[in-house]
Amino acid sequence: MPKKIGIIGGGITGLIVGIFLAKEGHKVSIYEKNSLLSQTSSKTTKLLHGGLRYLENFHFNEVKNGLNDRSWWLENFPKHTTKLKISIPFKSFLSFALFKSFVGIKLYGILAGSKNLGSDNFYTLPKDEESSLKNEYKTFLSFFDGTMDDVSLGNELIQSAKDLKIDLLENTEVTNFDRHGMINGWKFDKIILAVGPWSKILLEQNNIESERDIDFIKGSHLIVDRQTDSGLMFSSICKSRYIFALPYMGRTLLGTTEEKVKHPDLAEISKNEINYLIDSYNQILKKPIMISDIIGSYSGVRPLIKSNYNYHKSSRDFFIQKNKSLFTIFGGKWTTSPSIARKIVTMI
Ligand SMILES: Cc1cc2nc3c(=O)[nH]c(=O)nc-3n(C[C@H](O)[C@H](O)[C@H](O)COP(=O)(O)OP(=O)(O)OC[C@H]3O[C@@H](n4cnc5c(N)ncnc54)[C@H](O)[C@@H]3O)c2cc1C
Repeated sequence: MPKKIGIIGGGITGLIVGIFLAKEGHKVSIYEKNSLLSQTSSKTTKLLHGGLRYLENFHFNEVKNGLNDRSWWLENFPKHTTKLKISIPFKSFLSFALFKSFVGIKLYGILAGSKNLGSDNFYTLPKDEESSLKNEYKTFLSFFDGTMDDVSLGNELIQSAKDLKIDLLENTEVTNFDRHGMINGWKFDKIILAVGPWSKILLEQNNIESERDIDFIKGSHLIVDRQTDSGLMFSSICKSRYIFALPYMGRTLLGTTEEKVKHPDLAEISKNEINYLIDSYNQILKKPIMISDIIGSYSGVRPLIKSNYNYHKSSRDFFIQKNKSLFTIFGGKWTTSPSIARKIVTMI
């Protein structure tokens, strides 16, 4: 039977969940404090991926789910998504780092199965071939992932929501809700709390115990005035993280960082992050970038579920807490929002 459903939060999670529920015939309203898709969902690396680097932490199921969802986006939104070749540079082909990446990329392809986007490759550049990378970087491993134009994709999703008669209440902050279906004094059959990194804070403000804790991990990106045709993934200066340099609107998108913050509202790039990204990129570049090459930056706070691991190793998996008529979504990625939506549809 069709239900009246109130969704709190108009990021990618709230929007996709709303679209899936409206397609099932439910009457959906989305409450968004700012504009739709303006917070964490607009601050990503723009990748549709399973997350090659999460294999290091043996998160096989999570990666497999992400790879399934990656192909859902590429198949359903070909105008706004594309596959992208990403190469990892190495100084020598006799290194443990290369061996580890080789095994990871092979496993990534196996987990993608029939949804693999193209064959991985191992190649060395001829000595005299021109490259933007330092001369010692002649050996590469490459693989394919998905990437998106999140602005045009977001606009298409918002149009779909309007076509499905979803009530889109932008600039409408929810100040109170409960587990029986009340939002700001209006009654719904079910409520979905899809507020990304703000989930635990909002639950506690409304006297509902949160079954998960959140690590607020800020990530920042720089837009660099350099053109590039394909993606690069390389070790940062601290070695424990990878950085992407990806083609982005005729420029290069460089990111990302991991910095713990006290509150999700504190999403501003710091000097440290800028230096870290520039120094990491310059390790491999022949012609170093300078502050004057940076033409833009943005930061967001990941909604990471707290685990026993160091947060660098935390899972990006999601969890749904149920309190009577209230369903709270924790964690997830842009890529896996369709999986979250399928799960919510089943639970409702
Ligand atoms: C640096 C970084 C890089 C990332 N890169 C990728 C990537 O490449 N690929 C990928 O798949 N994922 C990536 N992610 C993860 C992805 O961004 C998030 O998982 C996803 O955007 C979360 O969406 P959301 O809708 O849950 O949260 P949000 O987008 O934050 O949406 C929650 C919404 O709730 C609203 N809200 C809060 N409080 C209230 C209230 N009281 N009333 C009404 N509305 C309220 C907020 O305004 C916000 O719009 C990245 C994240 C970060 C931070």
